[in-house]
Amino acid sequence: MIRESVHCPACGATSLKKNEEIRTEQLTFGPQFQFKEVMYECSSCGESGDFTGETDKNLEVAERHAQESALRNYIEGLSEMHITMAYIERVFELPARTLTRWKSGDFSRTSLAFLRIIVACPWMTEIAENRFDPDFANQVVIREAYKTFGAFVEAKLGSAVAVDVKHGDNSTVVTFSTQGMKSVPSDSEQPIFSVGESGSANTCLAVTGS
Ligand SMILES: [Zn+2]
Repeated sequence: MIRESVHCPACGATSLKKNEEIRTEQLTFGPQFQFKEVMYECSSCGESGDFTGETDKNLEVAERHAQESALRNYIEGLSEMHITMAYIERVFELPARTLTRWKSGDFSRTSLAFLRIIVACPWMTEIAENRFDPDFANQVVIREAYKTFGAFVEAKLGSAVAVDVKHGDNSTVVTFSTQGMKSVPSDSEQPIFSVGESGSANTCLAVTGS
């Protein structure tokens, strides 16, 4: 296809071959999106590229739509976890209705980065609610690590596993227990194992429960 209005940036020729192709990109922690790549090739000198900047513009528009969709999904996902927009604004000390504004399309890449962190680590809101107290933050991180490990144990056992983390002045005791396992008396919780301090020695008790 020959275009008269576009000039080759190298030699100024107007005899150009235009190639259009639909490209697919993946938004970080979001949907795929497509945009039209428009490339020109000069028939005189062979120079090729996005002479009009149309590709960049198409990419920008398509990426923005994907970001809008991702941002709405982040907020709705958090809402399903009972982490509301008002709560986020309060604990992170953001102006009222900030997230409403973002949700309606008025947001930056910083807004997206902020929400991605909260969606990936929802317990960050708890840390924020406690005004980023370092000791509290450490306790939350430990609890979340053991919850993740508990989920792994749960998958191995095929039975629900409760994880209890108790922080003392000098120790942290973590107990994993099953509830309602067939091989366990129904009136008690059977510890699978606990990690913590017993006297001066750290203990790691393993009870399979079956
Ligand atoms: Zn040229």
